[in-house]
Amino acid sequence: MKVSVPKEVRADERRVALAPDTVRRLVASGFAVAVEADAGLEAGFPDADFTAAGAAVRRHREALLAEADLVACVNRPEPSDIAGLRRGAAVVGFLRPLDEAESLRPFLAGGITAFAMELVPRSTRAQAMDALSSMATIAGYKAVLVAAVRLPKMFPLLMTAAGTVPPARVVVVGAGVAGLMAIATARRLGADVEAYDVRQAAGEEVRSLGARFLDVDLGGIETQDAGGYALELSPEALKRGRERIAERVKDADLVVTTAQVPGRRAPLMLDEGAVRGMKAGAVVVDLAAPTGGNTAFTRPGENTVVDGVSILAPLNLAATVPLHASQLYARNVAAFLKLLAGEGGALTVNLSDDVVAGACAVHDGRPVNPRVAALLAPASPDGASR
Ligand code: NAD
Repeated sequence: MKVSVPKEVRADERRVALAPDTVRRLVASGFAVAVEADAGLEAGFPDADFTAAGAAVRRHREALLAEADLVACVNRPEPSDIAGLRRGAAVVGFLRPLDEAESLRPFLAGGITAFAMELVPRSTRAQAMDALSSMATIAGYKAVLVAAVRLPKMFPLLMTAAGTVPPARVVVVGAGVAGLMAIATARRLGADVEAYDVRQAAGEEVRSLGARFLDVDLGGIETQDAGGYALELSPEALKRGRERIAERVKDADLVVTTAQVPGRRAPLMLDEGAVRGMKAGAVVVDLAAPTGGNTAFTRPGENTVVDGVSILAPLNLAATVPLHASQLYARNVAAFLKLLAGEGGALTVNLSDDVVAGACAVHDGRPVNPRVAALLAPASPDGASR
């Protein structure tokens, strides 16, 4: 299988889909890898590292794409790049299949198979391919560092001859993958941390990191689905969580919000009153910005200041740690590629494999993943889209 890795074109992107250590392993297992010149430069991987790992380095993007059986990318390629692929080729990357389903049309039109890393089932078997978790880990870590630089304070408790400096107070809302990493990072810096999540199961993990878990009485309702994800809550249950958070953030120095519900707009966790009730100089980092944000003042991609409280809403924090982000992402992609290598190593789309079928947004001119199919279905006669 010929795997091509183009240079990412998004302005805020510094990652590359395959890193040299992964290329070496793929080449050893029979893949032929070609990389566009300078594709890894911003992640800290010069072309020579790819050559040493056994990849070909190509100057001409069109030729690189035209020869590919499979294109490995971080972000969805532009329609002009997709048009340059041969019919039957495949693309693997973060393709935004649920929030930008219409952008999959060029794959349908060109007979290109689209595999979205966001759709890889989060099962035990697919754990090595869980790129969402890899990137959430990095975002959780970087969120705390970005805030630490912005805060007018230090994090640790210090006892000095000039007096005692109390530790920074951090509240983390949503203790999933990103939230747990934010807790661990803030704890390592010496902060006093508390966290909230609707999933009771998160409580144990929060405590094991040396943070306190905020218990909220939600009346014993179901808050988690079979896959371990949060369910959308009733307005009343959401309100109870919000009230407790509003009370706890009053004297927080940093609030990291990560609350998301798959396929839905992010829930409002800090309303106007909660933000206005915070201390001037405090910082909120809203990692739910890509799905609309957790605060009343979040403007995705921007920094907003309300009564002296900074609300940072980064959209692509993982790309700001490009070396490790690329290495982890590449390993996730490589684990997935192994499922696509059929007899003699040729690209084989085996839709009877649940991981391959789950991740497959479109194949052979048709949507495959049922959620994608529902989004791309023609509008029903009454005008409503099914
Ligand atoms: P996510 O990004 O969808 O959500 C982040 C967090 O927000 C979650 O912990 C969620 O419970 C929480 N949340 C949602 N609504 C909330 C609300 N109203 N109030 C407070 N918190 C709210 O989730 P994620 O971090 O990607 O994963 C969450 C969980 O999924 C994990 O902790 C784990 O249990 C499971 N998971 C399983 C696998 C696997 O099996 N391979 C991989 C990743 C995650």
